[in-house]
Amino acid sequence: MGGCHSYPSATEADTTTLQPSDISNKKLGINNNNLEERPYLQQQYVCQRITHTDMSALTALPPGFDQAEWLASNTVAFFKHINLLSSALSEFCTPSTCPTACGPGNIVYVWTDDQGKKLKCSAPLYFDYALSYIQDLLTDEDVFPTKAGSVFPAGFVFLVQKVFLLLFRTLAHIYWSHYRETLALGLHPHLNTLFTHLTHFCQQHSLLEPEDTEPLQDLITALGQYS
Ligand SMILES: [Zn+2]
Repeated sequence: MGGCHSYPSATEADTTTLQPSDISNKKLGINNNNLEERPYLQQQYVCQRITHTDMSALTALPPGFDQAEWLASNTVAFFKHINLLSSALSEFCTPSTCPTACGPGNIVYVWTDDQGKKLKCSAPLYFDYALSYIQDLLTDEDVFPTKAGSVFPAGFVFLVQKVFLLLFRTLAHIYWSHYRETLALGLHPHLNTLFTHLTHFCQQHSLLEPEDTEPLQDLITALGQYS
């Protein structure tokens, strides 16, 4: 992985701050069935991060910043990180391995096209649509202006919310369907860090509804114990 990745690399020290034994399954409300079905909730994995930076401080609007600018720059950064992670795992996500775009609990995401028509499609197609849709928005000067003095359009926050919903679903599919490969590649500390950063950012700026994040609420709670 390279390119625009800017998180520091994982180190052994990262895992020593909190030990898995610090948190019991009982406290997290996790039953054994969940742990078998959802390996990403296992203690030895959930504590893995590449940084233990204070995510609230990292995601809050810095003093003097314009909120739309802050949302825009973070949207671009999250898109790049998630696109990169998704690309690293893309060879494992095919129409035969993932005939539907599923997430935790086998929730199925259905793509809605420009005409409002619902398309049930494979995961690689769904996430290709999603990431292409986001890329088109990010490169549209009328939506994400880059020139000094440009104004953000009415409805900008609504579009940002839509982008974050699609980015959240991209990570939800990786956790649900490709966690084994993520572990094999050693990418799980990166995935946990990115997901924690994204959920904090969305919470801080009210970008996702509780029903959007519900499929991974158990993980959000578990990761919160190690922040
Ligand atoms: Zn897949």
